[in-house]
Amino acid sequence: MKEQEGVIKYQLQHMQKPIKETFSFNEINAWRTIIFRLGLIGQDPDRYNNLGFGNISQRLYPLSSQFIISGTQTGSIEQLNPEHYCLVINADPRKNRLSSCGLKKPSSEALTHASIYAQDNTIQAVIHVHSPELWSCTAALKLTHIPTDIPYGTVAMATAVEQLFQTGQLQQTPLFTMLGHKDGVVAFGKNMQEAAWILIKYLSLAISTAKQ
Ligand SMILES: [Zn+2]
Repeated sequence: MKEQEGVIKYQLQHMQKPIKETFSFNEINAWRTIIFRLGLIGQDPDRYNNLGFGNISQRLYPLSSQFIISGTQTGSIEQLNPEHYCLVINADPRKNRLSSCGLKKPSSEALTHASIYAQDNTIQAVIHVHSPELWSCTAALKLTHIPTDIPYGTVAMATAVEQLFQTGQLQQTPLFTMLGHKDGVVAFGKNMQEAAWILIKYLSLAISTAKQ
């Protein structure tokens, strides 16, 4: 848990050029702003050595293996624009490799997003946030979780994500916490609203649990 937030650990092949593919950023960006306003994506001098935290992604189009993700170290910006996003062209979580293009490099947790999209074609959106309230309620709310000894952005994390899907635990509730990644929570869904909704729903449960 002493690991540094925001450092890219995978082998990255990045082309520094604008994203050419047709994609409407409106939806992902609106939800990114809402999640930012809730303090679940951001940057805070008192947390994680002042490095940006949290990221959001959306499949380029249904059944595509490519996805759009917020760029690395954009956490301090309330309202992103398309230049702050990046297109993940190819990802191989097991080999720890990722290729992308955009004016920003992908989030350090892009490989975890990639391993989630790889598990289920119907998943269109993934949101990774940092929520002390929700994370600390992992046991109280019996949340599906990745064990403490798995650090973020690693092959071990990709394998652990795959295993979570295999257990079927995520079918009921598409949300899990990463106990080896302080405050780390991931939610996903068939669309952006569904991923955001599950996150907000469980945040409300965490807040009400903590108040008891
Ligand atoms: Zn994180």
